[in-house]
Amino acid sequence: MNVETPTQVDVSVIGGGPTGISACLELSKRRDLSIALFESESEIGGIPRRCRLFFGMRDLKRIYTGPAYVKKLERLILKTSVTIYTNTTVLEIIAPKDSSHRIRIKVSSPHGFFIFESLFVLLATGCFESSQGSRLIPGTRPAGVYTTGSLQDWANLRGKRPGKRAVIVGSEYIALSSVLTLIKAGISIGGLVEESEYLSSNELLARAISKYFRFPIYKKTSPIALKGYDRVEAIQLAAKEPRRSFDVACDTVILTGKFRPDSAIIDSTTIQQDPVTLAPLVGRDFMTSQPRIFAAGNILGKAKMHDVCALEGRRAARHIITRIKAFGT
Ligand SMILES: Cc1cc2nc3c(=O)[nH]c(=O)nc-3n(C[C@H](O)[C@H](O)[C@H](O)COP(=O)(O)OP(=O)(O)OC[C@H]3O[C@@H](n4cnc5c(N)ncnc54)[C@H](O)[C@@H]3O)c2cc1C
Repeated sequence: MNVETPTQVDVSVIGGGPTGISACLELSKRRDLSIALFESESEIGGIPRRCRLFFGMRDLKRIYTGPAYVKKLERLILKTSVTIYTNTTVLEIIAPKDSSHRIRIKVSSPHGFFIFESLFVLLATGCFESSQGSRLIPGTRPAGVYTTGSLQDWANLRGKRPGKRAVIVGSEYIALSSVLTLIKAGISIGGLVEESEYLSSNELLARAISKYFRFPIYKKTSPIALKGYDRVEAIQLAAKEPRRSFDVACDTVILTGKFRPDSAIIDSTTIQQDPVTLAPLVGRDFMTSQPRIFAAGNILGKAKMHDVCALEGRRAARHIITRIKAFGT
């Protein structure tokens, strides 16, 4: 990278999770392409770096733990000519004025700010869970409130025990994965709370897990307040049937689900976004409303399984390769 002169590449992939890495692996089959992969964190891998079980089934045809799955993808990408920029965050994408110009990408790295100029861009920045504020849960904002992502960071990556007794809000598969993370970290579970009358994951599986680890599932129940000042002391819940409000004592609350695409980098562009989720809108070829800028994986709005995202990354890459041929490169 050079501060003065923009670095020229054929394809820039933003986000080094399963989607971005798999896209790079597919793109690198065209050996003549220069490909840059940008990742904000110190290592590539995305969410699976923090997770434990059942990775790789549909894309690598084997079952790995999250970290082993990432190692496998890393080994594959290191055999290619893809240039990986870790600790490098893409701050801005500037679309070209006309089709003959390149897309400009501003990045921040420990070495400073740099500009890349790219013919094609794939956005693969994933999604994140909503926080206490955006879920409109009132309370004094005490310590001890985590999303699944931050819980996985503390417990699985850093080996810490972030609390003693937790209540989980939400019932998707990711909530069930939180149960395992909490138990492994030595944290007991005070309950799992779901607003609707149906769980968002497999009911039988959730029931079996709750029975095995001995915690109640509260359906048709909403969190209405977090209690405690310095640290969470309880969560106040409101049940619809029978109508009642009650407290569950806990020092930790895990907010799961209510995913939002990590799409802030397109806010300053003219790329069309879903009015509700703010995810970039794409066609069947994963191209956004801005020619030559594509998007795939969880940035498209939902938290899908990692292998579904990986396969989507590969498909998006194949569409990019088709366009590159039409572009005359
Ligand atoms: C909170 C959470 C927990 C999950 N837990 C599980 C689980 O336990 N088991 C399971 O099977 N599946 C789990 N999943 C599902 C699965 O892991 C994800 O669906 C999958 O990782 C999505 O892949 P992705 O590449 O689209 O996004 P991610 O894996 O999120 O990767 C996106 C990457 O982009 C990087 N990035 C973001 N913005 C920028 C930027 N501006 N510049 C550079 N880099 C950037 C991020 O640092 C990240 O590494 C979970 C998903 C979420 C959101």
